[in-house]
Formats: sequence, C-alpha cells, structure tokens
Amino acid sequence: MYTKLALLIDGEWIEETRAGSEVVLNPATEQPLGTLPHAGKPELDRAIAAASRAFEGWKRTSPFERGQILRRAADLMRERLDRIATVLTLEEGKTLAEAKGEITAAAEFFDWFAEEGRRSYGRVIPARMSDMRQTVTQEPVGPVACFTPWNFPAVTPARKIAPALAAGCTCIIKPAEETPGTTLEMARALADAGLPKGVLNVVFGVPADVSEYLIRSPVIRKISFTGSTPVGRHLARLAGETLTLATLELGGHAPVIVAKDADVQRAAELSMAIKLRNSGQVCTSPTRFFVERPIYEEYLEHARAFVDKQVVGDGLRSATTVGPVANTRRVAAMDNLIADALSCQARLIAGGERLNAPGLMYGPTILADIPDHAKAMTDEPFGPLALVQPVDDTEQALARANALPYGLAGYAFTRSAATANRIAEEMEVGVIGINQMVVTIPETPFGGIGDSGWGREGGIEGLESYTVRKYVGHLHS
Ligand code: NAD
Repeated sequence: MYTKLALLIDGEWIEETRAGSEVVLNPATEQPLGTLPHAGKPELDRAIAAASRAFEGWKRTSPFERGQILRRAADLMRERLDRIATVLTLEEGKTLAEAKGEITAAAEFFDWFAEEGRRSYGRVIPARMSDMRQTVTQEPVGPVACFTPWNFPAVTPARKIAPALAAGCTCIIKPAEETPGTTLEMARALADAGLPKGVLNVVFGVPADVSEYLIRSPVIRKISFTGSTPVGRHLARLAGETLTLATLELGGHAPVIVAKDADVQRAAELSMAIKLRNSGQVCTSPTRFFVERPIYEEYLEHARAFVDKQVVGDGLRSATTVGPVANTRRVAAMDNLIADALSCQARLIAGGERLNAPGLMYGPTILADIPDHAKAMTDEPFGPLALVQPVDDTEQALARANALPYGLAGYAFTRSAATANRIAEEMEVGVIGINQMVVTIPETPFGGIGDSGWGREGGIEGLESYTVRKYVGHLHS
C-alpha cells in the first residue's frame, strides 16, 4: 500500500546511497513503512548540476508548454487520488478524507500556476525620448531549493514546486524525512506528465546539512522554507550570507475572536472542526479563542459537545474523524503544555491526555480560563489543543490577539459589519477568515508577518516570488 522510497536526481530514481538511510514510521501503528535513502555530498552535487543544466532548457520552454505539463500532472494526481491519499495517511496520520482533500488541493495549485505562468506579464513604460523603448519583463529567478515539513506533504510542496516550475525555475526539494512518500508520488506524476529530467529533483537527508549545502551553492538563487520559526531564522541567516532570496512560511498561534453577536453554536462547531484538522498540526490552526463574556459558557458547552463526538484513531478507518499526532515530539509537547496550563489553574473542558490506544492518539483538548502566563499561550502547541479566554469587548480581544510576535492567520465570528471591518483592519496577521475559516486556496496570497515569516505563496504573488524583473531601455538610433 505504501510507496517505493527513493531520491529523484536528474530523472533517475536512486534507492540506495552511501550516505545511509532512515526508517519511515506509520504514526497510527508506530510500525515501519519503508526505508528512506539519504543524499550525501555526491548526490547533492548531482542534483545541483542537474538543476543548473535543466534550467537552460526549461527557462526557454514556453509558459504555455510548461503549463500543459503541470496540468497533466494535476490530472494524474486526481486519477491516482486514492493511492496517493493512502500513502499520505499511512505516513502522516491524517484521515483518508483529509488526505484526499489535500491531494485535490495540491492538484489545484498545479492547475492555478499552470495558467498563472501564462500571465507573467511585463510592461512598457513611456520614455522621455521618442526613439526610446522602455520595457520590464519577468524572468525566472533560477534554480531554487525548497524545504517542506511533514504536516502537509502534498499541499506545501505543491505551493512551492508549481509556481517555481510555472515561472521557469528548476527545483531541488527536500521534503520532510518523516513523510517522503507523498511528495515522491507527486514527483512521479510530474515525470509521467513529461517533465524533462533535472527540472525537479527530490532529495532527503540530515535536514540541517542538506539545507546548508544547497543554500551555500552559488547555483541556488532562492530558497522557500515552511517550518518552525527557529529553523526559519537559521536558514534566513545562511541565505543572508549568500544573498539568496528567501520565502519563509513559519509558525503561528492563531487567534479567534468570537463576538457576542455571533452565531455561537456555529462558531463553536466550525472553529473546533478546523482546530482538529490534521490533529491541530497546522500553522494556521485556530489556537487562542477570545470569547465575549455574555456567550462564554455557551460557547464552551457547544465546543465540548462537538469535541466529545470525535472518534480518534487510525486515519485509514472510515469511522475516524481525528487521526494520530504525527510523531512522539508532538505527544511530549502536548503533555508539557497541558501540565503547565493546569498548574496555572486552567479549567479542563475536554481531553487532556494521550489515549490508551495503539499509535500516537491524543485526546482533543479544550482548556478554558487559561491565564496569559501559561506556556501554551505563547508556544505554538501544534497539536489538538484549544485555549479559551473570556474577553470584555472587541478592543480587549484585539489587544490579546495582537500580543504575540507571530502573525500568520486570524479568525473572527460576528454578525456586525462594523466589528468585522475593525478586526480585519486591526488584527496583525497575514490572512484572516471572518465567519468562515478557509484562508489558503491557490488563488489567494498566503503568508505571515513578524515571526511568522517573509513573503507570500499562492495567488499572483506566489508566481511573482519566483521571478525577477528586468528593465530594458532600448534607444533605436
Ligand atoms: P522542526 O523545527 O525540527 O522541523 C520542522 C521542519 O523543518 C521539519 O520538516 C524538519 O525536517 C525541517 N527542518 C529542521 N531543521 C532544518 C534545517 N536546518 N534545514 C531545513 N529543514 C529543517 O520541528 P518539528 O518537531 O518537526 O515540528 C515542530 C514545530 O515545527 C511546530 O511546533 C511548528 O512550530 C513547526 N512546524 C511548522 C509548520 C508550518 O506549516 N509552518 C510545519 C511543521 C512544523
């Protein structure tokens, strides 16, 4: 049911190297799925050389032709939906329904950028002299290196590979070693769709070694990283030394403001459903809930009722609504944050511990009345943990929402247009959902401010970030 693990370098699938390997585990059973080869220096050098050579041909391939390959790959991903989704669930843990949704979304990123590449417009700037022509064009930035985490092994790589390839860049991607199979399946779809060899290379290894080696290479002109803020800072420092462009999509700690005029039941159920997506291991996961006092207890009651109905288990089982957490680091982090919160007098509304069941199953947890000084209020839980506080009004809710250095996603529920507008203007985040919680689709820009990172992915901005502008001043003499 799982997939053959390999490196993909210059069109060749490499199943064994001298650099060693690691075992990939299924978080629902903690059993091995396969053995992943690592790339050492020789493999990375080959990948760099392949990306450099392939760039010469790929940048000259028309955006129309590039788009056709990307669209074919998207179609193949949809044809292979059940298979790729099974690989995703096996290695990451999320439910099969979520995995299918993710593969479909990843295919949509390829669709969007296949078309957007054809609209990589330039402009003509009126000149001061009649025989002068001043034009601006967009050119691919060059070979790029991408580093992606384990929580969305289809969508996060797609958000980087699709715009890079559409813009005419070649790419070396290092997906997370914990979830390699899904990205490899996408790479297979691209290869089967006719992507020339060397345009996309997939490597695995020791993350810090691979990323540093690639960033220091003069061939690599841009990096795009999704992951934690400390690793993002480290990569930004390395990229600063070589003046390599960087897009960084880092952690978050998303606030949710629930105003007293909101539809309380809907707000509670929707926000808990989105909280539990991928067991809360999502950078945009709603985490700090600021609920106005008149509806506070009612909100908690609906939230508890919703959470009590969830079935935590193996994502491959049809009854499961919440899968395991992806690795033991998340179990330890949850245990630690919950113990600390309870010692600070937080009120346990639901969950609170790892379940006595096979696999890394954690009970969806709601903590009410949690004080600001509890660790969970500042450290990203990245797990199924909702933190709820009462607030007096929008003003206080906004002050609390904006209290952290993170600024990725935020949410609000209100029936008042004035309150919605105020929150939209004053919440310090990159993306906001009001009365709904979908904030990342291919056609809209996604990214954070402050400690949540640099740059935008998706939308027209997503393509632009893989291009550089060239100005030509041409005197016809
Ligand atoms: P981590 O910081 O060790 O790793 C996060 C990801 O970055 C992993 O995929 C890892 O392989 C990769 N990575 C680590 N060091 C790297 C390096 N030097 N160069 C390149 N890649 C590197 O954390 P973790 O334990 O895997 O996850 C926990 C934390 O990471 C979470 O609390 C969350 O803040 C963050 N995270 C964020 C996202 C996101 O979507 N923004 C995704 C996954 C994890």
